Amino acid sequence: MKNTKYVFVTGGVTSSLGKGIIAASLAKLLQERGYSATIQKLDPYINIDPGTLNPYEHGECFVTDDGAETDLDLGHYERFLNIPTSQANNVTTGRIYQSVIDKERRGEFLGKTVQIIPHITDEIKNRIQILGKTGEYDIVITEIGGTVGDIESLPYIESVRQLLWELGAKNAISIHLTLIPYLAAAGELKTKPTQHSVKMLMQSGVSPDILVCRSEHKLNDGIKNKLALFCNVQKEAIIEALDAETIYDVPNLMYEEQLDKVVLNKLDLPFNEKPALAEWNAFLKKHKNPQNEIEIGLIGKYVELHDAYKSITESFIHAGATNEVKVNIRWIHSESLTTDNVPEKLKGLNGILVAPGFGDRGIEGKIDAIRYARENNVPFLGICLGMQMAVIEFSRNVLGLKDAFSIEMNDKTKHPVINLMEEQKTIVNKGGTMRLGSWKCELLENSKISSIYNQKIIDERHRHRYEFNNDYLEQIENAGMIATGKNPDTNLVEVIEIPNHPWFIGVQYHPEYKSTVLNPHPLFVSFVKAALEHSLT
Ligand code: GLN
Repeated sequence: MKNTKYVFVTGGVTSSLGKGIIAASLAKLLQERGYSATIQKLDPYINIDPGTLNPYEHGECFVTDDGAETDLDLGHYERFLNIPTSQANNVTTGRIYQSVIDKERRGEFLGKTVQIIPHITDEIKNRIQILGKTGEYDIVITEIGGTVGDIESLPYIESVRQLLWELGAKNAISIHLTLIPYLAAAGELKTKPTQHSVKMLMQSGVSPDILVCRSEHKLNDGIKNKLALFCNVQKEAIIEALDAETIYDVPNLMYEEQLDKVVLNKLDLPFNEKPALAEWNAFLKKHKNPQNEIEIGLIGKYVELHDAYKSITESFIHAGATNEVKVNIRWIHSESLTTDNVPEKLKGLNGILVAPGFGDRGIEGKIDAIRYARENNVPFLGICLGMQMAVIEFSRNVLGLKDAFSIEMNDKTKHPVINLMEEQKTIVNKGGTMRLGSWKCELLENSKISSIYNQKIIDERHRHRYEFNNDYLEQIENAGMIATGKNPDTNLVEVIEIPNHPWFIGVQYHPEYKSTVLNPHPLFVSFVKAALEHSLT
């Protein structure tokens, strides 16, 4: 049983400073020094989870093994740390209030008036300590979403204040991430916004132990002295975080700035001098020195916001490094595709990925793109909705079932080759009710997919309501599209492939959620390799 220590990360001045990446980089460094660390994200919005949020609002919804629909930062945590997260790693205000209100309805407050302090803050404190109480971690890093000063952040900051006091100085510390803007006209870096942000934090009773300062320019000694003096922070605890070429450089930058050393000192934990990040840097070296370049078309309907496909683009970075290839993404809006313009819009691509999604916007464009990939021998990967559309394209254009469709888009179709799952038929609520999380899949021997995984049984994460309709399986297989992965318990089709195509695979699950820097996903590695071969012929 470990005596878990806590690090709280708050943000000031503006949002989007990269708290998630700083937290993940710190955790990575601590992990490299032999400490077990995990990261938790507290999101101040009222949604129970981001599952019901439009990706345009908040980017991708990341899914954990235990089926939690979570903030995309959890994807970064897993990609950096190479350990899975769970429901306990992401908590929203909605979830906090829901559990307090449920307790009130059960009469658990014994007639007391239920209030933000202490009831909401107690619930937040419990949630923060859930991961610590597992006894698995030396250090839990808790990232508070939003910016200090937001009304909705107040109960979180108050909970952090209480925990810092209750746990004591050597068991819990606070890091504040801010921005030091550069005023070009004055030729100067400005500390005032940070001073104000720290003052605001102090008004809530939290005094930061460490300041991490995002900046486009190096912080000179004068700036550091000023920040230290006016923010009550030791000078060595002022950490500069310069803009990085890639997020994967940030652990090295934080190592050079000795963020991990300062944290360990403050937590009174031994600092071990062993060289850090060997495997990580081997990845970075390959990532930065590609031998070849390929272009993959990413076809989706949220392409204006690249964050909507974060795990997919990161998976390409990992798989690209493995293959020593630079993977360029051509972002293609499925609504912009028509049967006539597909050859011109997809010309020159070495691989085509049709992305996950919901609803019928842009669906015909996806189907046209898949037909192009199939007929022109371009490597194709369809993920979730992308796999379902590959089945529809094949049914329409090879089997001749002209109105084949998914009942998600047309519930009157004569040929529902993609059907609603039986257990979904009576579900009314939208939130948290899909088929979620990790499920087993058995791969067919001698298939391409089994040679890619080199395993018979795999576990992959899911997030969908619809599925391959097994009534059509025989016809589809006879025509040359084979179901090469199935759930061993329910027989649901999880993988389809076309053996007489160089590389054509559709998966009902989301491989992108499991690719990490140290463990690039084999499906992406193989897809990139196929695209590389395509580019060389
Ligand atoms: N909309 C489809 C379904 O619910 C696919 C979901 C997805 O791509 N994640 O089955």
